[in-house]
Amino acid sequence: MLMQGEGQGAPAPMTDSFGRIVDYVRIALTEACNLRCTYCLREGAGEDAPSGGKLDKAELETIMRVLGGVGVRKIRFTGGEPLLRRELPELVAFAKRSAGIRNVKLTTNGVLLERRIRELLDAGLDGVNLSLDTLDAGRFSTITRREGFDKVRRALDLLLGMPEFPVKLNVLMLRGINQDELPAFVELTRESGITVRFMELQPFDDHQIWRTGRFMGAEMIREHLMRAFPGIEPATGTDTEHYSFRVPGYRGSVAIIPAYSRNFCSSCSRLRITADGRLVSCLYRDGSIPLRPLLAGESAEAELARTIAEAVRLKPQDGLKSRGGNSVQSMSQIGG
Ligand code: SAM
Repeated sequence: MLMQGEGQGAPAPMTDSFGRIVDYVRIALTEACNLRCTYCLREGAGEDAPSGGKLDKAELETIMRVLGGVGVRKIRFTGGEPLLRRELPELVAFAKRSAGIRNVKLTTNGVLLERRIRELLDAGLDGVNLSLDTLDAGRFSTITRREGFDKVRRALDLLLGMPEFPVKLNVLMLRGINQDELPAFVELTRESGITVRFMELQPFDDHQIWRTGRFMGAEMIREHLMRAFPGIEPATGTDTEHYSFRVPGYRGSVAIIPAYSRNFCSSCSRLRITADGRLVSCLYRDGSIPLRPLLAGESAEAELARTIAEAVRLKPQDGLKSRGGNSVQSMSQIGG
């Protein structure tokens, strides 16, 4: 079966040594963030490293052009907080124009979304994952160590009012912090077609919160969900949405995203590019390939394409099993 675009000469996607198609790249546009979520960043962390610095617009464009050329179909801009990059709409527009790339999405904390959404839609953005762990202003300040709840809430309401636009709401679940809000989040799916995704904490957090009894595993989240909505029914979700449900009569869906408690390596289709331009082929493995030096050369694009293909070839079969300890301190470093 021909996939959309293939008949028009779009390159075939790359396949790794284990037959997995790799057609999805997450690009972190900055390590900086305007929030300091307790499970993600230390108070003083999250600024872009002064050495190296982040990839500039021209570098990002070259990389995206090459990604499209080697069969990447989907790009997600993340960070840090990607909306801190002024050029985001231009980057979205560039990605959308790049041959081969069909789907361009954004993961954001939403603080700056309301005032940029129009430009992003005009640029062709295909969807937003909004991260919001609480619907309570006071808790928001405690979790994020910053103000800004009203802005995020307005962004959420805006998105809830856009029925044709794909929206997912990422809610990181922590025991004793926000688990009591699970029903309120599910209620958002009553009138809106969004997917609310309850996420398990990854063990990449500066404070090692996952060791402190706050960790709430996917099974525990599922039990809470079942208890609150006994009539909830299974639904079809994406690869990472291990559990997917719909409350009968509700328009949207609910998913649970395990992290540590379940291994998704067998269906991993991703690469990551860090804000300073390192290519990471596995979230659970140390080791990355610096792309920036390749960008300076005369045959930059050919070198990049070769390097990306090699990274895909070397993707480990099972990063969790083979991990020798990952030195990632925060999701914001690796483009969460
Ligand atoms: N600033 C953007 C945002 O908030 O969506 C993009 C970057 S943020 C690192 C991406 C996602 O990673 C957020 O949904 C956040 O909740 C999640 N995250 C951060 N640290 C995490 C951890 N230790 N385990 C699981 N998810 C984490």
